[in-house]
Amino acid sequence: MTIISKDISKAISLLKNNAIVAIPTETVYGLAGNIYSENAIRKIFEVKKRPHFNPLIVHVDSLKKVEALVSEFPEKAKLLAEAFWPGSLTLILKKNSTVPDVVTAGKDTVAIRIPNHPVTLGLLQQLPFPLAAPSANPFGSISPTSATHVENYFKDAIEMVLDGGTCKNGIESTIIGFENNEPVLYRLGSISIEEITKIIGDIKIKNKQEIAPNAPGMLERHYAPSTKTFLVHDVAQFIKNYPDKHIGVLVFSKAIVAPNIKKLVVLSKKKNLKEAASKLYKSLHDLDNLHLDMIVTETFPDVELGKSINDRLERATKD
Ligand code: AMP
Ligand code: MG
Repeated sequence: MTIISKDISKAISLLKNNAIVAIPTETVYGLAGNIYSENAIRKIFEVKKRPHFNPLIVHVDSLKKVEALVSEFPEKAKLLAEAFWPGSLTLILKKNSTVPDVVTAGKDTVAIRIPNHPVTLGLLQQLPFPLAAPSANPFGSISPTSATHVENYFKDAIEMVLDGGTCKNGIESTIIGFENNEPVLYRLGSISIEEITKIIGDIKIKNKQEIAPNAPGMLERHYAPSTKTFLVHDVAQFIKNYPDKHIGVLVFSKAIVAPNIKKLVVLSKKKNLKEAASKLYKSLHDLDNLHLDMIVTETFPDVELGKSINDRLERATKD
């Protein structure tokens, strides 16, 4: 029995009754619950098998609702909000006392975003509470970019996936917080560093191990397929070492032909990094589902969304 549905009123009624519902966003699907329902929040952690020290992102549909949840809103955060919301930017701001500790894992900050998806914006407008929603995947696995991905992960463990089609951006939000009022980028994502610096100038980047204990999205191994996956500079050369293997290959723009390649995915023939990012997880899901001997991917150009793609591929291929 499918749990996928477009029925917003059903989602509203489930969420009002402390259930959790998977929701579409322009980044990836989220697993959502009422931030004020301890039951709902507990279920999110349980179903995802997410460690309790890993805080959730809060989703609202307006700046007014953001302001009601925070005690400080630095000038540069306002500039970023103005430039990118609704959109794929998460801001970490000092929370006020109404935001429950279970959502923020006891931190005095809260991660917030206004997602840019018509279905979920409509849903949030009609709810009397914000939604906490981490990505709708079991902890450590590839994030879901379609309703079917979510259903395949959770089967009957959740009651509903609100269907909003394929996620347009297909990679998680960029996360920015503040230390001594200065912006710090904690997670590379859907909005590039270049776009961010255009608005607020240079930004410190701390997306590697430094904050790993606080931000499991930043753990070294994450976003991983179950098929053994390699990230290399020269795919054609690398796969020559495995003539007898059945290999799935994922490349940026240029096709490779070899007898051991059983499936080839070219992410963007036009060399468009946004297009590549949007197809990245879907392609990894598809390749993983073929149960080949290995998946081999290539390093992307280290600019714009290429940086975010490389970040995810590095984590997906860590032992
Ligand atoms: P996910 O929603 O699964 O993409 O993960 C959300 C990411 O945001 C995780 O890496 C969290 O650790 C991070 N995050 C959420 N709230 C905070 C916070 N208050 N401080 C630092 N990181 C946070
Ligand atoms: Mg996640």
